[in-house]
Amino acid sequence: MTEAIGFVGLGNMGFPMSSCLLKAGYKLVGCDLSPGVRERFEALGGAWAATPREVADRCRIVMASLPTPQAVERVALGDGGLAGGKAIQIFVDLSTTGPRTAKAVAARLAEHGVVALDAPVSGGVYGAVKGALTVMLSGPPEARAEVEPALRMIGKNVFHVGAEAGMGQVMKLVNNLLSATALAATCEAMAVGIKSGLDPLTMLSVLNASTGNNSATQQKMPQCVLPGQPIGFGLELSMKDVTLCVDEGEALGIPMWSGNTTRQIWQHAISQGGPNQDMVEVARTIEKWAGVKLFGAVPAKT
Ligand code: NAD
Repeated sequence: MTEAIGFVGLGNMGFPMSSCLLKAGYKLVGCDLSPGVRERFEALGGAWAATPREVADRCRIVMASLPTPQAVERVALGDGGLAGGKAIQIFVDLSTTGPRTAKAVAARLAEHGVVALDAPVSGGVYGAVKGALTVMLSGPPEARAEVEPALRMIGKNVFHVGAEAGMGQVMKLVNNLLSATALAATCEAMAVGIKSGLDPLTMLSVLNASTGNNSATQQKMPQCVLPGQPIGFGLELSMKDVTLCVDEGEALGIPMWSGNTTRQIWQHAISQGGPNQDMVEVARTIEKWAGVKLFGAVPAKT
């Protein structure tokens, strides 16, 4: 592809995703508010724009990886935002924002002749660095087909989940509520075993060969919680996903018993150490209640 793609939001996820595109030979025009990002991005061969509007003036396809629904609304529709840019035709939102924001942003961008696609991702910073994310793509089929080759540079799996704005977002929220709930339930269950005298690594071997296995037994426990390492996903961002999913379920008239419990555990962890902690702090919260060590319970591999 010879034309440049725009990329707004070069944080923990956006920077490695944009690096994958640059390494694959795509030209990019980047934009981020944080100091120091520009130098790192230009060092990889990316061009820079001062504002999202400048990105939208220069690029027909613009991707974004932004922290909150409010940030996406600001970048897409606010002063100096993407809407009204001279070149933009397709907006690809890789952020997790929930379906309501995705639908509202898509409707407003449509007034400017821009097609919006949901493309939230799963796989964390590690998956982003490796270009091995899962992408949950929804929106008009022609636009999806056009951006899929680029998305395949950041995602090992690109799933087409629907033709409507918001469907990719619902898929992502469902995944993240399950992933968070699995972490809480796994910490609690492992605490029972460890306090009873079982060896944590033996427990994981058994669980991963049995019906209790899940993303926490497979990855977050052995790689992060037990060796005392961060997960690389902020507690506040995870709380955002859990809350969006619980709210969505309740709006659909679905009782969200376990989702609400997960939300309260996350809220408690935030009340203890603030929002700017890693998601691994949930394990620290549970170990305090349990009176047993989970975080750093086994030596980290060197
Ligand atoms: P982050 O906070 O590290 O990065 C967001 C970036 O957006 C920052 O660099 C910030 O400066 C920039 N930004 C914010 N407002 C801006 C604006 N108005 N103009 C330009 N830049 C702006 O967040 P992240 O961890 O990279 O997550 C990004 C999105 O991906 C979130 O929606 C998150 O929920 C989702 N996500 C994160 C992970 C993860 O493991 N971190 C995994 C999957 C999905």
